[in-house]
Amino acid sequence: MKASHLILGTQRENPADAEIISHQLMIRAGLVRQVSSGIYNWLPIGKKVLQKVENIIREEMNIAGAQEILMPMVQPASLWEESGRIDQYGQELLVFLDRHENKFCLGPTHEEIITDLCKNLLTSYKQLPVTLYQIQTKFRDEIRPRFGVMRSREFLMKDAYSFDLDKESLDQSYSVMKEAYIKIFDSLGLDYRIVKADSGAIGGSDSEEFHVLADSGEDLLAFSDKSEYAINAELLTELQDGQDPYSLEGKPSPDGKGLLKLKKGIEVGHIFKLGRKYSEILNLRIQGENNDIHPEMGCYGIGASRIVAAAIEQNHDEKGIIWPKALAPFEVALVEVNPKKKDEIKEKSSEIYNLLKENDIDVLWDDREKRPGVKFTDMEVTGIPLIIIIGERTLETGEIEIKKRQDEKPQLVSHQNLISTVKTN
Ligand code: ATP
Ligand code: MG
Repeated sequence: MKASHLILGTQRENPADAEIISHQLMIRAGLVRQVSSGIYNWLPIGKKVLQKVENIIREEMNIAGAQEILMPMVQPASLWEESGRIDQYGQELLVFLDRHENKFCLGPTHEEIITDLCKNLLTSYKQLPVTLYQIQTKFRDEIRPRFGVMRSREFLMKDAYSFDLDKESLDQSYSVMKEAYIKIFDSLGLDYRIVKADSGAIGGSDSEEFHVLADSGEDLLAFSDKSEYAINAELLTELQDGQDPYSLEGKPSPDGKGLLKLKKGIEVGHIFKLGRKYSEILNLRIQGENNDIHPEMGCYGIGASRIVAAAIEQNHDEKGIIWPKALAPFEVALVEVNPKKKDEIKEKSSEIYNLLKENDIDVLWDDREKRPGVKFTDMEVTGIPLIIIIGERTLETGEIEIKKRQDEKPQLVSHQNLISTVKTN
């Protein structure tokens, strides 16, 4: 793609309300623009990154045997009355009336809708186990939207729901999803931890969260330094009758192995065993081997838009974002320096651009009529992992300058070695 055609949307100034680095950089790099509190437009570069997150999630969900569906964002409030959650969910649930005075709400999650859907869709135990998922916009009227898309009101979530005949089978479906989550977060290239969690307003028994480690994280996590024991400090506090979690640091781990250490995390995924909570209350019955049963359910969420912000919290420097390869909006930025000085600079850039494209390398050619400083600042803040520089020096020596985003100095490569260098970096 040519930068002269791209709506880049980069900005020099930090927004006044941006407290954390990912919020500042998402605005400065032109990923998102705020519409209203906690509500954002995604610009071309941001949308490309978000789509990479979605695709990684989708691929692993499909490999795990989950089937993609799409449920509506607008939900009849009557289903929430039936499940009893209309009051429990509180003001985060945005309720409104249609022209016939029927009450609706914007879906903050989809347990009610999926359970209702499956009433006519799943009839026999022979269809189980089954897991359905969607990647869709959620709305939660958060009391204090903050940190950009990290805690927004409208956000993109992957939510999956499993249906099983009995508890043993639910255990199996849950571990298949957990394994898929591990593959997703490994592919995203993020430093994350899995911790025991509270099942909160959604309800149910077992529950684990996936956290990206970052100092700006809103959750406090406690780990044993000797075992696999890891827990959300909120739950540990509950288990220990309200003791201050910071008093949880250096104490013996509850599993008897090692001492507790504390770290901050950003919750990017959450998996729950719901059991029969929704299938009973909303009366989803399936023909079992002998008699009708209420299936055992599980639910599995990933904050797709929050992942983009969390990835930036972990991967940046003073110049901007440094994308992990899997999330980069482009693989290479091709910067032509002062093409007006010599026509050959433009010609050489065009030649390299075509070569990269022929080799299926996703390249952004900065062909704009801008000063080199402006181009480098833009390419650096957007975090494209490799920058190729074409200028007078290229013409003089025949060697091409190629720089990893995080490196200070470029390396020089010959024309013949350019593609292999790009592919191995
Ligand atoms: P939190 O504790 O951060 O409020 P939650 O536990 O209420 O999140 P879940 O119901 O578990 O969230 O939703 C699944 C995932 O959706 C979360 O793990 C998180 O990644 C994402 N998510 C939840 N709320 C928001 C939000 N306001 N903005 C962006 N992503 C969100
Ligand atoms: Mg959660």
